[in-house]
Order: sequence, then C-alpha cells, then structure tokens
Amino acid sequence: MPDRHASSARPASTGQSGILPGLLEPSSRVAVLLPLPLNHPYDYKVPAGMGVQPGDVVLVPLGKREVTGVVWDPADSEPKDNEQASDADVQEDRLRPIIRQCAVPPMTALLRRFVEWVADYTMAPQGAVLKMALSVPDALQAPKPVLAVRLAEALSERAKDNEDAPDGFKWTDARRRVVAEAADGMARSPADLSMASGVGASVVKGLVKAGLLEQVEVSSPRRFESPDHRLQPPEFFGDQADAVERLKVLVRDEAFSVSLLDGVTGSGKTEVYLEAVAECLAAGRQAMVLLPEIALSGQWLERFRRRFGVAPAQWHSDLTPAQRRATWRAVAEGEARVVVGARSALFLPYGELGLIIVDEEHESAFKQEDVVSYHARDMAVVRARLGGFPIVLASATPSLETLTNVKNGRYGCLKLHRRHGGAELPSIDLLDLRKDKPTRIEGLGQSWLAPSLRAAITETLAEGQQAMLFLNRRGYAPLTLCRSCGHRLRCPHCTAWLVEHRGRNHSFEGEGVGGDLQCHHCGYRARRPDSCSECGDSDSYAACGPGVERIAEEAAALFPDARRAVMASDTLTGPNAAAKMIKAVQDGEINLLIGTQVVAKGHHFPDLTLVGVVDADLGLFGGDLRASERSYQLLHQVAGRAGRAGRPGRVVLQTSDPDHPVMQALRSGDRDSFFEMESEMRQRSYLPPFGRLAALIVSSPVEEDADGFCRNLAKRAPGYEGIEILGPAPAPMALLRGRHRRRFLLKTRRDLSPQAIIQEWTAGVRLPSRLRLQIDIDPYSFF
Ligand code: ADP
Ligand code: ZN
Ligand code: ZN
Repeated sequence: MPDRHASSARPASTGQSGILPGLLEPSSRVAVLLPLPLNHPYDYKVPAGMGVQPGDVVLVPLGKREVTGVVWDPADSEPKDNEQASDADVQEDRLRPIIRQCAVPPMTALLRRFVEWVADYTMAPQGAVLKMALSVPDALQAPKPVLAVRLAEALSERAKDNEDAPDGFKWTDARRRVVAEAADGMARSPADLSMASGVGASVVKGLVKAGLLEQVEVSSPRRFESPDHRLQPPEFFGDQADAVERLKVLVRDEAFSVSLLDGVTGSGKTEVYLEAVAECLAAGRQAMVLLPEIALSGQWLERFRRRFGVAPAQWHSDLTPAQRRATWRAVAEGEARVVVGARSALFLPYGELGLIIVDEEHESAFKQEDVVSYHARDMAVVRARLGGFPIVLASATPSLETLTNVKNGRYGCLKLHRRHGGAELPSIDLLDLRKDKPTRIEGLGQSWLAPSLRAAITETLAEGQQAMLFLNRRGYAPLTLCRSCGHRLRCPHCTAWLVEHRGRNHSFEGEGVGGDLQCHHCGYRARRPDSCSECGDSDSYAACGPGVERIAEEAAALFPDARRAVMASDTLTGPNAAAKMIKAVQDGEINLLIGTQVVAKGHHFPDLTLVGVVDADLGLFGGDLRASERSYQLLHQVAGRAGRAGRPGRVVLQTSDPDHPVMQALRSGDRDSFFEMESEMRQRSYLPPFGRLAALIVSSPVEEDADGFCRNLAKRAPGYEGIEILGPAPAPMALLRGRHRRRFLLKTRRDLSPQAIIQEWTAGVRLPSRLRLQIDIDPYSFF
C-alpha cells in the first residue's frame, strides 16, 4: 500500500506559506521531489557553491540512475510525522549531492502547491502528479544554441580588399564571394551565407576554420507569435454584450471567480469568451483554453486566428516530440501567451497564467482515468483558486455539478439566450420505433432507419441541403452471433463482445462478408471464423445490431446518389483527416454525413438542416449514474448541428421509449425542469453532487487473489454514519486486458472526506505484488 499518511496529514497549502524561503545556505540539505510514483521528496546535499531555491529543476542521482526532479520546499517548513522525521535523520554525510541545476525556469510555487493539491485529492503519489508537470524531459535541458557566422571582428575593416589572410591560406573566387557577402558584418546562418554567395557549404566551413569567419550564438527565432488583442473584435449586442462586459471586469479584477457561460449552441459563447482572453492578454498575462477534443478543433483555431491574427500554442497528444519540447519551454518562458489544449495542458509550467476557459465543461473527456485519475475541469477550478484568477466554464448543457454550484451561489452565471444572427433552434421530433418500424430492405435485410426518417432525408437532399445520421457506435456491428446455436464472439481478455469492423473502403457488397473483429477495450483483433467454435456450423455467424458502418451501408442502398461520408474516430486517421472532412461538409462536397460522436462536437455546418439520431436510447443503459444526464447532453449537442444558419433545422430521434424523461426534455427543450428532476433524484439518494463517491478497483491476473484481497479489505471496511460501502462485486467489466476486476464503491455524505476514509481503511494493508488497487475519486465510469 502506498503510504499516504504524510501528505494527507498536511493540509493542502493554498496560501503564501513557504513560497519565498529565500536562498538556501550552501551545502545544506534540500528535499527533491522526483517524477516517480513516490509520495515524498528525497533529501539531497547541495554541493558547495551551488545556490538552489525551491522550484529549481535539478539532476540528482537515484541508485545507478540520474533523474530530473524539482527542489521542493524545505521539509522543515511543514509538519512531519514520525516516519518522515526518522527519514530526515539520515546523516548529512550519507546524503548524495545534487549533480547540477537544469537550465529551465524554476517551477513556480503555485504549480508546486497545485501538484500537492492534486496528489492529495486524487490520492495519487505526489511524484506521479509531478511527472505530469514535467511531461517533456527533453525540455528541461537548455535548447542547443543556434550558431551563425559573421566576418571575424579583426578582419571586417580590411576584408573588403581581400588582402588580409593568415599564412598558408589561399584565396579563391568562391572564398572572395563569401567574404564580400559577409562584409556587412551581419551574422547569418552558414546555410544562408553559402546560398547568398552561391558557393557550397564546405567553402564557408573552410573560412571558419581559417579564422576569417567567426561563429556566434544567436537566439533562436520566436516560434510563438503573440496574439494581438487589439485587432477588431466582433460587435456584441444584448446578452452577448453584457456577458463580454462582465467577463472583462472579472479578468481585470485578477481575483478568483468561477463563471458559467451558459448559452444554446450557436449563441456565440466562443466569441464571447475570446474577449475574456483578449482582456487577459491586455493585462499581460497568459491564458489557457481547455477543449475536450483538441484534435478536432480546426474550426476553433481558425476562429482564434481571425480574432488575434495568429494561432495559439497547442497542446495535445498529436504533437511531435519537437513540438512538445518547444511548446513546453515557450509556456515556461512566457513566449506562448495563449495555450489551447486537452486536459494535460493544465499541468504546463505557466509563469503568468491569468485566465482559464473550459469549453464544453460537461464533457466526460475531461476525466482522465490513469495513474492519476482526475477531472480536468475540477482541477482547473483548483488551479484558478490557487492562482487567484478567474475561470470560465462554457456549455450549452452544463453538468449537474456546475448547475448546482450556480444554484447555491458558488459560481456566477452568464446566459446567452438566443442563437447568433437569429437562427432558430431546431425542432425536435420523437420517432416511436414501436410504431414506425424500419422495414426490411431488398438485398440488404434488416434496416435501421424508419420510413419517416428515410422520407425526411430524401426531402432534405432533394432541397439541396445536408443531412446527418448519428449513431454513437463505431464499427459495423457490435455483436457477432451464431444463428444455429446462439454463440456470441467474445474478447478472450475482456468481458466484452467483439465488434465487427469492415473498414471505410469496403464495398459493402454481398451478405456474409466477414470483417475484422476488434475488442474496443484492449485492442484484440481477429478474423471472423468460418465456422462456429461451439456448434461447428459453417457460415453461421451473423452481424447483430448496427454500428455506424452498417448505417452507411444502408444509406448507400437507400440514397445511392447522395455524396456520403462516414466519420468516426477510427475511420479518421489523424487531425488532418478530420479537418479535411469537416471542410468537405462545409463546402457542400458531402451532403449525407454519417458519424459517431465526433460529428457532434462544436462544428458549424451552415447548410445542415436535418439530423437523424439512429438510436437515441443507446446511452440510457448501463449502471452509470449520469446516463440520463449524458444522453441529454450528447443528443442536445448533436441536435445543435442542425439549422445553424438561416434555414430552420429539424431533428428526428428514433426511440423505443418516447416517454422517457430525457426524450421528453429534448422534445420540449425544457432543460431546466429536466435538470431539476434529475437533481432531486440524485439528492434523494445522496449521489453526486449531493454526496461523494469513490471507487476502489482491485485487479489481478489471478481471480482468487483479487477475491482474497477484497475479502480482507471488506473485513476492515470502516462503518459509521454518513458512509456506505457497496461491494466488493465483480466490476461490470469483470475481466479487462486479462485482469480480473473487483470493485468497491464508497458513498459518503457531502461533508465527509472519502480520501480520509480510504486512508484509514487501507492504512497498513499490504498489496501483494501482482495485485493493483486503483482509487478513483469522483468516478465517471462504472465499468
Ligand atoms: P457557441 O460557441 O455558443 O456554439 P459560436 O461562438 O460558435 O457559438 O457562434 C456561432 C456562430 O455565430 C459562429 O460562426 C460565430 O462566429 C458567429 N457569431 C457569434 N457571435 C457573433 C458576433 N457577435 N458577431 C459576429 N459573429 C458572431
Ligand atoms: Zn454455433
Ligand atoms: Zn479485450
């Protein structure tokens, strides 16, 4: 069990304590936190002559390795428990010295406190959180100097006559041309100089060697241009103008505040919060915008460029190592003024951060489940609080957590009521699949689009407009089943069905063409077997249920003349593919777009007037406490793609349960009463945000080991008022990547701390080597 006691015994520091302890005495000991799954800093000796301060990035020995860590605030400024005190008794002479300091701006006190805060809250080792803040080890070394050449100082006066030359040096025409070119004394890159003089690179090298040219270091060119906040902003009226004004005041105040920017899709939230960014830039501070799907944000970047003249720095998983390195350093050095990024941008080393925007704040993509499980939106609020600056959460369908915080006055709220330019919100029709049944299609078999949806598509296309079909399920079919014996094809490593994929280039011709079977959880792949592994019948496997590829197949049969395209995360290869396809839709090259949730995200398609949701009930199943909320948010967002420009939009939701509160709320557009109802339901059962949840997931390659450990843990489970422990039970995904999983769910009253309870519960428990215990505070997935 990782020892958590020391860090939780210390209150998360949020104030000024220990921020400026000044230069440390030479040869004193310092604590250095290492980016490894360790919970404490280790002590090191400061060699004579080296002055280090908290926050300095240093290279230290660890066993036989050298590791880069951060000088943490002196251990004696914090209360110690016994174990740490004995740690600190390591004799001075046995401490190993710091090897050297790294040429990188020190980690700010703010970021150090943030790292501690996140570690305490998520119950992750401090070092694991530090690792996210030092995510680009290469960036911690000074960049290689850029070398340029110029005429050697002593020569420049007399060089014009080409007379002065060292012994043994022979003038050639080529050499004369170079010297003539360099006669102005300016430094230029060797490549530029040889090109300008029309000579080969070796000529320039020869002149350097002979001492006629000298090498000088020049600073590398700026890679991140400053966004220009003085460019012309759009004109704002009404709600928008009010919101812009209020946000500007908050940014100028330079104090912590949280504001929800709540407006229907297309109401101008992005334009409005960019003005807050402009105000932040004007105040000389850095700004960060978190987006859930940064890879798909081409349109967003274009908007930014229009407002500020240049692109912002970007931070996401598709960056090359060189880009990561340059961006990390540019953020640390203050060259990058605005960063737009995915959740990990939260841990970048901003020196002057003055504003955070979280766009689509309700998105579950902000929750990371990894070594450190954290919710980027919630941690962004913490970072703003520690830093004392405003944060803006934007959404058309805010999370229940955020709405509750608005209701109880902790967050402010700015509302945008109408779509910009007077576009109307689309009308939403519920299509009852029990009455309006999809009929079989000749040559294709089962159909998934009901007759009235087919008719609506035909009509839309005939009018020269665009339609979109949405199904939040990748692949061709979610299940493959033996028609003779009912056997279903399962992943050998997970509790999951194998999903058939036929690929985007498949012709879709002829029945029975077996595709590629994939597990969406572990990546296992197999060809569909020719005969059933249970009953031996041949050719008996059949695709069961639709994925987005199967809808594309049906669309091809029904609308052969439409210009169709499929858009799903696995059919798009890289961010450029997404951008290309989005552009093709915008340019009208595609008029029937079929996609998963990647088509739902913030795109603006002016000519798209019909959205058909193939299976609106899909998200309502499963043991997720947020199933209704999420379904509402996702479907509302999909619906928001329709009719964003002049023409009114129409949305058709195919459902087998039109009376479900989610469907009714979508149809009536009455978001507030839906959330009121949802909120009451959660309140009654002490579910978040009215109570707290934490998940403990025990996993092992050996089932009995997991069970044995859980029985032990269950015996020690704390029991007092205000807490409830569910489990241990096999997780819905009882087998994942070959590990057997059992879970406990801890439910507590809002005023209790699940971290403290888990601490007490697991203190002193030894975790056998093959077992893993994952702690997920505020879990968002329950598989
Ligand atoms: P949201 O973020 O709320 O979905 P957007 O900011 O994307 O809304 O705005 C929708 C569309 O309206 C965009 O094309 C945007 O450029 C345009 N728009 C919004 N507000 C204005 C404004 N004040 N002036 C000009 N165009 C605007
Ligand atoms: Zn069979
Ligand atoms: Zn699997």
